[in-house]
Amino acid sequence: MNCSYIFFNAYTIPKPFASVKQNQLLNILEILDEHVILTILKIEDEKVRQMIQKKIAAVRRLFWKIDHACALFKLQSGLNCPVGCGECCSKSDIEATILEFLPLADDLSRRHPGMAEALLKQLEQRDGTGPCIFYQAEVGSGSAGSCLEYSQRGMICRLFGFSARSNKYGQKEILTCRRIKTLHPDCYATVAENMGSRFSIPYMPYYQEELQNIDFVLGGGLYPINQAIQSALEMMSLHRFFRLAS
Ligand code: SF4
Repeated sequence: MNCSYIFFNAYTIPKPFASVKQNQLLNILEILDEHVILTILKIEDEKVRQMIQKKIAAVRRLFWKIDHACALFKLQSGLNCPVGCGECCSKSDIEATILEFLPLADDLSRRHPGMAEALLKQLEQRDGTGPCIFYQAEVGSGSAGSCLEYSQRGMICRLFGFSARSNKYGQKEILTCRRIKTLHPDCYATVAENMGSRFSIPYMPYYQEELQNIDFVLGGGLYPINQAIQSALEMMSLHRFFRLAS
């Protein structure tokens, strides 16, 4: 008997169970109660799950747009990351939204549920601090390192280095790192002098707004990157629990 059947019949029990002794009925109701609660939760979870999958698909489409905009800007400007550099990922002050890490969390909880659980434990121990959990530094080589989930990385990871924001005077300025500037000083100077005219530089606030349009709450709040990843993993692990329970 499936749980939905029990849920819809739970309130017609008294008649069929009229001849059952009271203590037996209590035992049965106790069991049914768990099913009823689980069923309500599962029905609700299914609605939430479908809504979250739509949002995840929208975030993936946004990432596709961002990747194309950044690739075009790199071609136009000649700016690029030094090969093998992981300096920006090694910082402890990166902030991100929960929404931008939902695609990664969804993928991990489906493909490698064990790994998702292990990551959650590690994140709980770190208490949301330190460099991004997906950053793997190369031992003994300064700023060299790589992202273990590069293709699924968040929005900030895609835009940082190759986007612009507005400064306090309302003028666009490039949001990039020290190493990109020193590796390509001439390209950097040309971009800085011709912002908004010769280059179609991705504008960070525009994409932040696009993300917020997908989900105002999950795409609006900024958290230390590991806290954002932890919350995204927790959300997807909860849905996996309900999937398995059905
Ligand atoms: S997700 Fe990957 S690219 Fe983004 S900060 Fe972490 S290690 Fe760097």
